Amino acid sequence: MNGLAAQLAVKRKPKGPCPSCGLKVDDEKDKCSHCGYTLTSADKDMLRLYLEFQRQKGQKLAVIILPTFIIVMWLFFSLK
Ligand SMILES: [Zn+2]
Repeated sequence: MNGLAAQLAVKRKPKGPCPSCGLKVDDEKDKCSHCGYTLTSADKDMLRLYLEFQRQKGQKLAVIILPTFIIVMWLFFSLK
């Protein structure tokens, strides 16, 4: 139970690409931990926009994948 909760907590803290090196950075931090690039407030806004876009994309994907999965499972069991 604790392991799952920890995994969910990690997933709730997504990271976006650094404007300088492209590696994942935390939008709450002021500096990229990879290249040391100092994130400006504009960079952070872009990161948050990117993360919001990724989140919405993930939700849309779930809307498509879940019914498909259910149909496939239904076919699998009905053909048996
Ligand atoms: Zn960087």
